[in-house]
Amino acid sequence: MNEHDSERLSGLLENAGYIATDSEDADVVVYNTCAVRENADNKLYGNLGMLYKTKEKRPGMQIAVGGCLAQKDKELIQEKAPWVDVVFGTHNFGSLPVLLERARVNQEAQIEILEALEVFPSNLPTKRDSIHSALVAISVGCNNTCTFCIVPSLRGKEKDRRAGEILDEIKTLVSQGVIEIMLLGQNVNSYGVEFGDKYAFGKLLRACGNIQGLERVRFISPHPKDFTDDVISAMAETTNVMPHLHMPLQSGSDKVLADMKRSYRREKYLGIIERVRKQIPDASITTDIIVGFPGETEKDFQDTIDLVMQAKFDSAFTYQYSKRPGTPAAEMPNQIDPKEINERYERLAKVINMVVLEQNKKQIGKNVEVLVSESQGRKEEFKNTMSGRTKDFRLINFTPQKDQFIRPGDFVELEVTGAFPFYLTSDKPIIKHRMTNAGDIWQNSKKSSNEVLLGIPTLVR
Ligand code: SF4
Repeated sequence: MNEHDSERLSGLLENAGYIATDSEDADVVVYNTCAVRENADNKLYGNLGMLYKTKEKRPGMQIAVGGCLAQKDKELIQEKAPWVDVVFGTHNFGSLPVLLERARVNQEAQIEILEALEVFPSNLPTKRDSIHSALVAISVGCNNTCTFCIVPSLRGKEKDRRAGEILDEIKTLVSQGVIEIMLLGQNVNSYGVEFGDKYAFGKLLRACGNIQGLERVRFISPHPKDFTDDVISAMAETTNVMPHLHMPLQSGSDKVLADMKRSYRREKYLGIIERVRKQIPDASITTDIIVGFPGETEKDFQDTIDLVMQAKFDSAFTYQYSKRPGTPAAEMPNQIDPKEINERYERLAKVINMVVLEQNKKQIGKNVEVLVSESQGRKEEFKNTMSGRTKDFRLINFTPQKDQFIRPGDFVELEVTGAFPFYLTSDKPIIKHRMTNAGDIWQNSKKSSNEVLLGIPTLVR
């Protein structure tokens, strides 16, 4: 969600005449902050400290800080970094160009934080990083009260965007070359709560299935509490909805789930994934887990390990619990010693790697359709490789042959030959290559900007 907000901020600034730059001579620097984890605060103040010196040399330069941390800590930001020109919150992104202008004209800092959002901000422009994939927000805010989470107090109650607007945006994106969308919400399964339709999310998925040219539909994040079988059926019946479910677990212990105010229990969670796998046999299931929530005992932790083994996740993001001031969990007794949290985290990571590797190994020998991505291997050993995602969201690295011209946004069919905990590999020749409009647009954009084609040697041969 934060990434998408940044795309919107870029779009707004571009519309107002600004041009993006990597140069240190930038006239305006905008930080879009996240408050979910603790180290974001430290990073922000460190960066602002560094910019102070730049600003001393060039007083006309403007610094803006927005997003969740700004919403939470507007006074603190002013106190710690009085050289910041604009502070804006999560509900008034659209005002950024005006606030920058006002700060410039009035020669004084502009602080604007709104307490709530009136309507979903559908009409903000967006500057997307990818040509072929796009994030599309379907709701903002959250009506839940997970005790570790700061989001509801910063982003407010859930605001649902009308389906017609969402579908119009997707159709426009498709006409611009987008072939994959990710529907975004804090809790996509409660989409529709604002207009009283508990089947709204399933309907939205099915409606995406009717959009010509839209090849892949994904969504994050679902919440087990609101997950209906109708959504599973919609996933199974809609061919462009990808067979991948990323559903946060957070803990495998019923006691910890209760303390977290996550109002589902392990049996319900396991029941959902069992039904998903029954209806969509090739679905991958991935999750998020928090380790070291206050009061988590060794037995609770073992319940999480046990669930990970039972669920056979295809990937899992694990987080060490960190206290977020302002959340109920921060006030709970029995906070766990960070060393203990780290030790559990390491143990869980080992189990997850083992389970995920086992799942990935099952892919060896299968032919998979891959949407080629823009990213290039960073490690030396991957410098000549390209990568992409399978339908079930596994990352796969492959090396095109000398005469093959594969572009980001194209589809290739590959045979999986290698499996690792975080990715698959294919060292066999590409079975099929399907060129797309998105690939054409990418290629033309490189030609018109006179750049060497991404520097991927396989592309320029
Ligand atoms: S569902 Fe829970 S964790 Fe997710 S945003 Fe809402 S309160 Fe936070």
